[in-house]
Amino acid sequence: MHIVQIASEFAPIAKAGGLGEVIVGLSKQLRAHPQTQVSVILPKYEFIPLSSLKSLRIDLPDFKSIQDGKLHPNTMWTADCENCRIYLLEARHPAGYFYRERIYGYPDDLSRFLYFSRAVTEYLKIKNQYIDILHLHDWHSAAVALFAKDLLHLPVGKIILTLHTVEYQGKCASWDLDAFGLNGQAYLKQDLLEDPTIPQTLNLLKGGIVYADAITTVSPSYAKEILTSEYGFHLEGILYQYKHKLKGILNGLDTTLWNPKKDPYLSVHYDLNSSSKEVTQAKETHKLSLSKRFGLPLQHKPWIGSVTRITPQKNPEAIEQALHETVKKNGTFILLGASPIPSIQEHFLKLQHQFKNSPNVLIHLDYDESLAHLIFSALDFLWIPSRFEPCGLTQLISMRYGTIPIARATGGLQDTIIDLNNHSFGTGILFDKADQASIVTSLQRAFTLFETPAIYEKIRYNGMNQDSSWKKPALDYVQLYQAVHQ
Ligand code: ADP
Repeated sequence: MHIVQIASEFAPIAKAGGLGEVIVGLSKQLRAHPQTQVSVILPKYEFIPLSSLKSLRIDLPDFKSIQDGKLHPNTMWTADCENCRIYLLEARHPAGYFYRERIYGYPDDLSRFLYFSRAVTEYLKIKNQYIDILHLHDWHSAAVALFAKDLLHLPVGKIILTLHTVEYQGKCASWDLDAFGLNGQAYLKQDLLEDPTIPQTLNLLKGGIVYADAITTVSPSYAKEILTSEYGFHLEGILYQYKHKLKGILNGLDTTLWNPKKDPYLSVHYDLNSSSKEVTQAKETHKLSLSKRFGLPLQHKPWIGSVTRITPQKNPEAIEQALHETVKKNGTFILLGASPIPSIQEHFLKLQHQFKNSPNVLIHLDYDESLAHLIFSALDFLWIPSRFEPCGLTQLISMRYGTIPIARATGGLQDTIIDLNNHSFGTGILFDKADQASIVTSLQRAFTLFETPAIYEKIRYNGMNQDSSWKKPALDYVQLYQAVHQ
């Protein structure tokens, strides 16, 4: 079965968050499956370290793609990366679409990813190889479904769209589609791409939902939640209409990237087979490294923290409240995060300033891969108060690293964490509402657990004992591919 994944991220060479890890983890596992042959296509971002790619070569030297009546040259590269065959679209467009420092966050993001979608479809048309499954991810590649079906008539069996989030939808004007060779006005219909709330506006994610043969979300709970107005971001109506196409498949974790037994960022290694004492000692060593680097105290009180993008989804207010509450109880709080939203970043810079003389608070407002690994291992508890969480990877990482998650019971968090009320199987602490009372209660539960080492270690062990690998989810995807392809 020939599967082509089209996405905007691929970890670690192009990662902004969980999406990049999911693409690499799933593709790697699919590659190991005897019945699937998988390739991944993404933009050739200028920041990709080409030296980390194996057998990099040109696959198609020069092909054109249209925008605003002009033909622009592209080159398709191919390489091996993380045991996967990847294809990198080099867009030689005067706007320098992928010659940027970051993946997202530019005023022309819509044109950048529409250009990518159109050029990739053009490439697949030229290759003219039958594709059993075209697997698209989020709004960035959703328009490929339109180009493939309505414009270039690609030789494709079925199209699958995975919704990693419905928050970002790729809204645009009809002329934005005109620019890429489709008649945008013709899609301004309620049963096609018309945005459910903004008149005369197209919605690319909605288009993907309408055009795909199957839709997946990254956890079963999120598949249910997005059918409600609380979580659907106005797409709940169209999703409900197509709910027969919708299935939740829980994300796995790339257990090679996230392996405390071999993690190059950790000085002491451990895993499920280590004794409880060894796990504790490893974590103490990593606390010591953080303490030396940032002056954090080493008293016997819990270390609690968050490693996250700081966006409204992740509930910045509840992160701040937990910080205050932890400090009040003489615990240590660590926040490693950066915000793409200037006002939020500024707010946390102020908070950082406010706590600059508090030894038991570390606010590190940056994206730092190596520090993230160290923090995941050093913490006693990871704080994840998300307003919604399609799947979430940090709870999976933390459990594997022997750090107990405290999380809001939503989406993938609720599907992957078992509350410690269930002593035999519990892996973390769950709470329903992120209000002040629940925050205080949840942190109190964490502090109490910390003072009861036998139960604490049991819960920690249960978390480390979870199978969060891609084995099962990848099989679920293969079954889905086979079911839709028949
Ligand atoms: P999302 O994709 O919504 O950002 P996930 O929990 O699915 O959230 O995935 C987040 C990924 O990004 C995790 O691997 C996490 O370690 C990483 N991450 C988030 N913020 C940072 C940061 N400031 N520094 C390093 N890694 C980060």
